[in-house]
Amino acid sequence: MMKILLSLFFTFALLQYNLPAQTYRAALLKSSIWRQGEISVCWENPTSQNAEGREWVRDSVKTTWEKYSALTFPGWKECNYASMGIRIRIADEGPHTKGLGSYLDGRHDGMVLNFSYRNWSPDCQDEAEYCTRVIAAHEFGHALGFAHEQNRKDTPAWCADQTQGTDGDITVGAWDKHSIMNYCNPEWNNSGVLSSTDIEALQKFYGNPDTKKEFRVELNTNAGREFVIFGKDDLVEIVVKLSKPGYFFIMGTTENDEGSTSYLLNFGGNDNQPEFLKRIAKHETNKWISIGSFDAAEPYGKETIRAVAATTNSLNLPNYRYDLTSGLFLVTDNQKRGINITGKDRSFPAGKSQYSETIIMIETRDTK
Ligand SMILES: [Zn+2]
Repeated sequence: MMKILLSLFFTFALLQYNLPAQTYRAALLKSSIWRQGEISVCWENPTSQNAEGREWVRDSVKTTWEKYSALTFPGWKECNYASMGIRIRIADEGPHTKGLGSYLDGRHDGMVLNFSYRNWSPDCQDEAEYCTRVIAAHEFGHALGFAHEQNRKDTPAWCADQTQGTDGDITVGAWDKHSIMNYCNPEWNNSGVLSSTDIEALQKFYGNPDTKKEFRVELNTNAGREFVIFGKDDLVEIVVKLSKPGYFFIMGTTENDEGSTSYLLNFGGNDNQPEFLKRIAKHETNKWISIGSFDAAEPYGKETIRAVAATTNSLNLPNYRYDLTSGLFLVTDNQKRGINITGKDRSFPAGKSQYSETIIMIETRDTK
């Protein structure tokens, strides 16, 4: 049984995930991978004169990194002092980023792009649109954590003197001559197009574009979502993520020697007026949100946590009663449902509303 400490902090919590411990081969900096699917972009110095260039940049990102991943890049308005995400200054100097990936989050002038090319690379004056698009696509690679491909240790000798900037520490695929991040690519910045290995690496860390259309609920814990085992007195934090605005409820099922019990999680109402449905607003989508912490305690056993979500307020809650002894809202019907549907995350449309369900299994043991 997991004793609910409190539905205490319904706050945004980003977990520190451990990436798979295999050794990949490509050029990303692991610690710089963004943890959210939505990375906002703003301009430090937008004017009507640079409006056209800003559109080229936005479109370049849309047709590359955004198109081939689950990422979205909202914003593109003027930055204020506290704006987070990628902050771009337009200046006539060498385009660059002041770091890789999420190290740019909220950093002033974190990316610098050139639209006029009077001082830097005057050859670009005749093809300002081409240069701007191609450079923007490359710099956004850095902004997602991609280092220069030619910095890799397996770079062939003919390209080895081109090393520049921060090295990556994870690699995907073989050394890629056609990478948009490779100075030794015979096509400059691969003409602003992602190579197939760029796309493979992008999707490995930032997901597949199909998931942007789906409505999906996901669950995770502070110890990951596979084979989660907690010992005595361990604190279990559970987080939920919805891909679109909507509503969800959580049903837990405990299985042990005494049988199985299902309960609904109360998000903060009192015992007479419990709140089982939680709403996720647009600005909360695609973020891990804590639904509370639990204390692994007796009786130990298997716990199934189920999240049921819909895009509209159309979810039918199971019947329940309040149990004074346990302090839980016990589900009085359909209990088998909580433990019979196995494994697969599901997403399905029904009428105007889209539904999605997922489960996570947790085992608690009487060990430290
Ligand atoms: Zn670069």
